[in-house]
Amino acid sequence: MTHPKITVVGAGNVGATCALWAAQRDLGDVVLVDVVDGLAAGKALDLQQAAPIVGFSHTVTGTSDYAATSGSRLAIVTAGLARKPGMSRDDLLARNAEIVAGVVRSLVAASPEVILVIVSNPVDAMTVLAQRVSGLAPHRVVGMAGVLDSARMRTFIAAETGASPKDVQAFVLGGHGDSMVPLVRHSSVGGVPLGRLLTQERIERIVERTRGGGAEIVALLKTGSAFYAPGAAAVEMAQAILRDERRVLPCAAWCEKEYGVGGCYVGVPARLGARGVLDVLEFDLTAQERAAFEASTAAVKALVAQLARLGY
Ligand code: NAD
Repeated sequence: MTHPKITVVGAGNVGATCALWAAQRDLGDVVLVDVVDGLAAGKALDLQQAAPIVGFSHTVTGTSDYAATSGSRLAIVTAGLARKPGMSRDDLLARNAEIVAGVVRSLVAASPEVILVIVSNPVDAMTVLAQRVSGLAPHRVVGMAGVLDSARMRTFIAAETGASPKDVQAFVLGGHGDSMVPLVRHSSVGGVPLGRLLTQERIERIVERTRGGGAEIVALLKTGSAFYAPGAAAVEMAQAILRDERRVLPCAAWCEKEYGVGGCYVGVPARLGARGVLDVLEFDLTAQERAAFEASTAAVKALVAQLARLGY
């Protein structure tokens, strides 16, 4: 068995949950990193002690020192502030830009060949920032949002139709924000298009709940944002890369000609394998879907322009 090293930066809710899912899947040796002294080491030690019960054979360690991350094949970046009620993901931009830039510089200095999976919000802009700061080829940097947003949509469709979530397909494109684009036309249950199973009104409710899926959880938790499904989504992407699965997953991938984006990270279906993003698959979009996608891309580009004003 190979033992790829996976670094997870941020040992908060999402980071610790990524470590948990990665350990459970026996994906590799996990190094958890946090600025708070002892936090990563404590959580890692606790998780490592589950190995005899759960039956994983890789190690989980925690540290504040990037020397321990040296030689990482892949790193998941979750460091930064999370939303509180009333905040949008975009409100986190300035503070998280500073945090993510520092984290990425340290990661790449220790592991020049690393592939980065960015989770910190606002994720599309943070992925642009991570690629710029790291100097890595764009295909080695990817953002997590679409797997989560699509999983939320699939969950809501399963609940509305009574189907198993495993049999539900759905795709959410665009930025990870209020302007995300749930693709109803490409949503199905066991291959049967959603429009054949539910009324337009019920479908609209699912679309709206998907767009507000993160905010619904923030409003309930009051002190933080979602972490179980986000952690699972980031680890799904990490597994596709580490095991060269070539899976098509919706994620924030670098697009030039694709979808006419013209150079930005935005949520699209991407094939993930050992090199990171292998390629981007293009749906034929209707005029309405294209307009929604372009509006979403414009929202991401506006955040990237703000990043430039902040000096990134
Ligand atoms: P959290 O507050 O529980 O954890 C964040 C952790 O980052 C803390 O432990 C903190 O000490 C650490 N941290 C801060 N600065 C750091 C630094 N410079 N180096 C290392 N660690 C540092 O927050 P969370 O719920 O885990 O969320 C983390 C981020 O993920 C937030 O920005 C949140 O908005 C984002 N998020 C994104 C998605 C998505 O779909 N992309 C989903 C959920 C959460």
